[in-house]
Amino acid sequence: MRYSGFKVLVQGLTGNRGWAPVWRTPDPRPAYDIVIIGGGGHGLSTAFYLAKTHGLRNIAVLEKGYLGGGNIGRNTTIVRADYSLPGNSEFYSHSLKLWEGLERELNFNVMHSQRGVIRLFHSDGQRDHYVFAGNAIANRGDGAELLDQDGLRRLVPYLDYDNARFPILGGLLHRRGGTARHDAVAWGYARGADGLGVDLVQNCEVTGIDIRNGAVTGVQTGRGPIRARKVAIVVAGRSSQVAAMAGLRLPIESHVLQAFVTEGLKPVVNHVISFGMGHFYISQSDKGGLVFGGDLDFYASYAQRGNLARQEQVMEAAMTLMPMIGKARVLRSWGGIMDMTPDGSPIIDKTPVDGLFLNAGWCYGGFKAVPASGEAFAHLIATGRPHPVARRFRLDRFRSGHLIDEEGAGSQHNLH
Ligand SMILES: Cc1cc2nc3c(=O)[nH]c(=O)nc-3n(C[C@H](O)[C@H](O)[C@H](O)COP(=O)(O)OP(=O)(O)OC[C@H]3O[C@@H](n4cnc5c(N)ncnc54)[C@H](O)[C@@H]3O)c2cc1C
Repeated sequence: MRYSGFKVLVQGLTGNRGWAPVWRTPDPRPAYDIVIIGGGGHGLSTAFYLAKTHGLRNIAVLEKGYLGGGNIGRNTTIVRADYSLPGNSEFYSHSLKLWEGLERELNFNVMHSQRGVIRLFHSDGQRDHYVFAGNAIANRGDGAELLDQDGLRRLVPYLDYDNARFPILGGLLHRRGGTARHDAVAWGYARGADGLGVDLVQNCEVTGIDIRNGAVTGVQTGRGPIRARKVAIVVAGRSSQVAAMAGLRLPIESHVLQAFVTEGLKPVVNHVISFGMGHFYISQSDKGGLVFGGDLDFYASYAQRGNLARQEQVMEAAMTLMPMIGKARVLRSWGGIMDMTPDGSPIIDKTPVDGLFLNAGWCYGGFKAVPASGEAFAHLIATGRPHPVARRFRLDRFRSGHLIDEEGAGSQHNLH
């Protein structure tokens, strides 16, 4: 069923009885050409582009829970292309272009809103760094403007500019950045892939990876064995555990990242604001809730909840930046499991096992990557060659030394 304003009107007038389920719920078949482990944003977008761009149809996505129940439905929804280093820079620039046409491509409202992302600076040194970053972003054509304090005050008057410890001197504005509705991205890709014949199998945990003579032959699942010529691991925070089923040890640590949302308020935060000294970021959802987060909890864990010490630190950062937030009541907090690489950049590559592919290491920035990651991973799986925008995301870079040190820290807590 194609969605349109006209359909919404007709359905509204006829009791909303004509909507079809958004995707099928098939039982797994005994064999597929390609099995994708993980029904998060990256797994679903990979399936969609395999079917759409490469015309492949005999594909299953195996999800141990429900579609969109992982990090794709747990993040703070920030979409931006303000990276500076070769590798990340061209990849996220490409991803942003895909975002800009995504709703049309999927015929699904993912509520992509280019409201602008502002990174604040609080010292001359930080301003110089943002000048460098801004030039890199502007040279690529993704748009960056350096705002002095007066320019920033006109856009965001409610910040505490004269904070004694962290005075706000200005900001770097990336107008094409913004937010999108996170779970709608999963639903849109799921609907698109299902419409092209991909089987989306929920409640189907992969418990083993079958390998014969160095090549993958299938997977073991809670719903029986499934044969496959190609298997793709796309399980974000569970990457190390699933890769271990194939005897692989990944350069990844899993850490918890928390997010918070307040009660609905009238529109007040019209951009995404990122606090340069406190690792704090905030936006306002279309329902009115303030959505914000901070740093990792900084201990390895597979729990999808966080600890109180980090919550206190995030609230302190919020109060330092915009004291008026103290009047808002926090409704919910939650945690997701981050697949942290040592350099903070992802992996899209083949593994040493023939036919086994890996997409992982998105750290806390993989939401904005979903379109380009799916497209690049599908290209790799279908053709055996890396996509031009993802060719530096190699698994062996930690051995060869070709790191993409955007974060300069990755999961090394002491360096953050
Ligand atoms: C609090 C928080 C805030 C964030 N904020 C942002 C942000 O603002 N901007 C941004 O760009 N990124 C952000 N991120 C990061 C982003 O959400 C992730 O990098 C990205 O969603 C990970 O990829 P995914 O969507 O495929 O992961 P997931 O949605 O976690 O998908 C992986 C799936 O694999 C499944 N799985 C695991 N093991 C198995 C198995 N054995 N068998 C079958 N299925 C399995 C899981 O159930 C899960 O559904 C944030 C993350 C968190 C937690």
